[in-house]
Amino acid sequence: MSLRSTLEFLLYQWLDAESLNRRPRFADHSRETFDAVLDTCERIAREKYAPFNRLVDTQEPRFDGDQVILPQATHDAQKAYAESGMLSAAQDFEHGGMQLPYTIEAAANAFFAMASVSIGSGMLSTGNANLLMVHGTPLQKEVFAKNEFCGRFSGTMCLSEPQAGSSLSDVATRATPDGEDYAQDPLGARYRLRGNKMWISAGDHELTENIIHLVLAKIPGADGQLPTGTRGISLFIVPKKLVNEAGVLTGERNDVALAGLNHKLGWRGTVNTLLNFGEGKYPVRSTGGGLDGKGAGAVGYLVGQPGEGLRCMFHMMNEARIGVGIAATMLGLAGYEAALDYAKSRPQGRPAGPAGKDATQPQVPIIEHADVKRMLLAQKSYCEGALALELYCARLVDEQHSGTPEAADEARLLLEVLTPIAKSWPSEWCLEANSLAIQVHGGYGYTRDFPVEQYWRDNRLNMIHEGTHGIQAMDLLGRKVLMESGRGLALLEGRIQATAAQAQQVAELAAHAAALTAAWQQVTDATRAAWASGKPGDALANAVPYLQAFGHAVLAWIWLDVALSAQRQNATQSIAANVGRTRAAAYFYHYELPKIGAWLQVVANRDLTCANMPEDAF
Ligand SMILES: Cc1cc2nc3c(=O)[nH]c(=O)nc-3n(C[C@H](O)[C@H](O)[C@H](O)COP(=O)(O)OP(=O)(O)OC[C@H]3O[C@@H](n4cnc5c(N)ncnc54)[C@H](O)[C@@H]3O)c2cc1C
Repeated sequence: MSLRSTLEFLLYQWLDAESLNRRPRFADHSRETFDAVLDTCERIAREKYAPFNRLVDTQEPRFDGDQVILPQATHDAQKAYAESGMLSAAQDFEHGGMQLPYTIEAAANAFFAMASVSIGSGMLSTGNANLLMVHGTPLQKEVFAKNEFCGRFSGTMCLSEPQAGSSLSDVATRATPDGEDYAQDPLGARYRLRGNKMWISAGDHELTENIIHLVLAKIPGADGQLPTGTRGISLFIVPKKLVNEAGVLTGERNDVALAGLNHKLGWRGTVNTLLNFGEGKYPVRSTGGGLDGKGAGAVGYLVGQPGEGLRCMFHMMNEARIGVGIAATMLGLAGYEAALDYAKSRPQGRPAGPAGKDATQPQVPIIEHADVKRMLLAQKSYCEGALALELYCARLVDEQHSGTPEAADEARLLLEVLTPIAKSWPSEWCLEANSLAIQVHGGYGYTRDFPVEQYWRDNRLNMIHEGTHGIQAMDLLGRKVLMESGRGLALLEGRIQATAAQAQQVAELAAHAAALTAAWQQVTDATRAAWASGKPGDALANAVPYLQAFGHAVLAWIWLDVALSAQRQNATQSIAANVGRTRAAAYFYHYELPKIGAWLQVVANRDLTCANMPEDAF
């Protein structure tokens, strides 16, 4: 099935995305305008992204000592994406946006992720600018965010440091007030930043006129010491090139220096950098005539209140993590499509009849072998299931922003619980899909003559960034399922039960409904058992197996709900794609869901085999 037809089924048949148009915010939209956005993105992805996916992998970004050089194709893709209006898709009409529901935006962005995940880094600019639209001052929105939305500037997110990856409380970048008038700068309270930021995507390039870094840093106390913990972290806008209040470049370079490029396993089309802030490579004049005007120090403007930096950053996390989930999913789907094509055209082997194999007969395409079908069905069930989950979460984002107060609150809580799954599940299982796509290709899959090895390399990032697998797992079991006295978990249970109750009435799905109910019971039992001793060390020792089981149970629910929708549609018109959906759901129930027992056993037993392993015994 084409991606377009799968998206249309999920958006319109399953999620009833058209009903969003009845809400005042989206009233100017219709199925036609949604489809027009999908058309445009599908076309740009086909013309400007897909043909260059291999090129951006082989022609890695390089630094010539002065500038970062990227292929022309990357410049062209960036320009086409900006011109499509997708950078500001969700923004108000009055700010030049489309007031597009996030559900449609997420679906439209799927085309780009599938065509070439790393050629474009628009998601970072959109995330950066969206954050400023919520937490910035009116002038910060005008000068920085709006210039990102139109593609003139681009954005980064500078959280990580060499010594502070998962542990952001250890951020050591220091921000000190810049001169006595620091608080009066129209662009925001002005500071000088000094520190090193590691792994910064799109941290330096010539794709846009300017780069707007959003940087986490700490403001020292009166004793000169940096505050400890995450509460002491503040957020700053640090432009690569200084601008005036009209957003015009002043001609002065800010003190942000490229210390080096990281050479990555995959995702090579996006430049990844180590940045030095405030080391004096590009001394900045004293902006305020104040004490700190000696040259070194990157000029940064405070966003929000001091100490509120992480809270501001996390505001964007749901959408950023759905974005990562979609990227992982689309890489999985790209591999699945390649594997399906290959399996249909590669002749190898013969079926065994009652009298064995007949060597005089021609070889059959490998798609005829049961084991190859197993690998293809696994990929289909992982990737199409993950796509459904991502769009479901995107729909919750719209509910949170445009639903009734009660529905919005439910959506918020459900997103709290589901976001670790939306980020992590596709990162693990659509990566596994890529591995299976390589397997379907046999030896050819292990060469660079076929695209599947690149998909796997590109996808390997997703379990690492935006919170590693382990960190997401601890967030789920240590925080999300417990928060507000377990209300989010209870809401999710209500939705799972509602789907199971409907599926119970459908002969072909009734057994799945029973399996889902039993699986969910196992998850909730294990959640209680994990916390029975009340010790976080015991409960969280097996957080990743918990995440895996929880994720599989959620995906089983999503598949059952999708299968119900497919059954409903097939009652009026029989569509082969719906047979495929029902079979993929069956695969998931027969081959995948039973795995959760093993994962949950160590959780429920608070098994400390790993936690108690002495270091010197490894
Ligand atoms: C290609 C790429 C792009 C990136 N882009 C950006 C970007 O644009 N901006 C940005 O700020 N960052 C970015 N990152 C950084 C990314 O978010 C970090 O790599 C990630 O947060 C992990 O930090 P770390 O690499 O220091 O690993 P560590 O934190 O050192 O973790 C190493 C391992 O130890 C585990 N671990 C760590 N602490 C614990 C714990 N308390 N309990 C259990 N296990 C633990 C982790 O799960 C992981 O498996 C990017 C990274 C990459 C590779």
